Amino acid sequence: MDNESINYNRYRWNRMLLNGFWFILVLTIVLECLYLTITEEPPGEFIRNYMIKPSALQLVTILFAESMLRFLKGKYQDYILIFISTVLSFIIVYIHNSLNYLLLALFLPVMVSIFYFQLKKLAFALINTLSALYLLYWTNDLVNENITLAGLTTITVMFSVYSLVAWGILSRGRELLEHLKSYFESHQQLLVKTIWMDKLAKTDALTDLYNHITFHEYFERLIDQNERNHLPLQLAIVDIDNFKQVNDTYGHRAGDAVLKSVADIIRTNAGTNDFVARYGGEEFAVLYTDKPHGEAHAIVERMREEIAKVTHSSLNGKPVTVSVGFAEYSTGEGKEHFFNRVDAALYKAKNTGKNRTIVASDPHDSQSQLA
Ligand code: GH3
Ligand code: MG
Ligand code: MG
Repeated sequence: MDNESINYNRYRWNRMLLNGFWFILVLTIVLECLYLTITEEPPGEFIRNYMIKPSALQLVTILFAESMLRFLKGKYQDYILIFISTVLSFIIVYIHNSLNYLLLALFLPVMVSIFYFQLKKLAFALINTLSALYLLYWTNDLVNENITLAGLTTITVMFSVYSLVAWGILSRGRELLEHLKSYFESHQQLLVKTIWMDKLAKTDALTDLYNHITFHEYFERLIDQNERNHLPLQLAIVDIDNFKQVNDTYGHRAGDAVLKSVADIIRTNAGTNDFVARYGGEEFAVLYTDKPHGEAHAIVERMREEIAKVTHSSLNGKPVTVSVGFAEYSTGEGKEHFFNRVDAALYKAKNTGKNRTIVASDPHDSQSQLA
């Protein structure tokens, strides 16, 4: 698992732990008040020994942790908090050495280390816990008297077994995280693949323009839109002149280079709301969706003139020309009729000298006119 996931929100969690330490301090004071009511010791002595002394020590320790959290960065914050939890539990057990069961409090560092989901920190916490236990055993007479060596061994084994359970929790958590991560990654890869496949299915590999199928899908939708909203819609069919001859003279690769270059010019002459497709071999279709007839026609003419000007190194510096059929959709005429009308205009452009645009007449008129 990467460090970024492990360290995610580190400061927030460390802050929460530190708040937990403050809570432990308050809790010990409350419990001491409870003991105060049942103790046989003189109250003054009890308050001094069991309330003021440990609380002051705990307070200093927590204040030290507060400043460390501000000064230390990264993983050192985690280690210092595990250490602070050891000191806190050590103080509690040391002061209340007559209460054997409080030895369990020494397990606090291991519990704190679980927050970090890292085996290294769990091992560090167990070393802290056991060190505190042995230090207590050798420095605190009462603990030493009350617990035999066999008892100490038992507690050591118990703490180690509990830590093993904690290790199991961490391992399972990490395994789940890894699983989630790989699931997420494969899901993402699939998404990218789907988008990529979608693009491949919709576009033409040579020119990167939309392909024939996509043109027809889009064309149909735009016709529908026109029928409903009467939005402007013009179609230009652009066919390279004498392209067979280009291939025959300069070769197929040179022909491909010309196709790409002509496609680029058509694309750069189209606006963001226009749709450009490679309709067939050396034929392109452009749909204009947001302009009046005259403006779209002017763009088509500008594009045709630009194509005729551009020279191609693959053709030894010669240009190619295109013939264009152009028309505006007349509401109600239908897709087939509209397309055939534009195609007929292109046919006319070819038959009347090429390198020109023929604007198909309105379906209600009988004649086409030369642009
Ligand atoms: P016209 O002026 O009447 O359009 O004549 P043309 O030679 O352009 O038209 P024709 O339909 O006779 O020939 C089209 C040629 O386009 C034939 C074909 O080999 C070529 N072609 C079609 N697709 C490709 C392609 O992807 N790459 C290349 N290099 N040539 C292509
Ligand atoms: Mg041609
Ligand atoms: Mg053709």
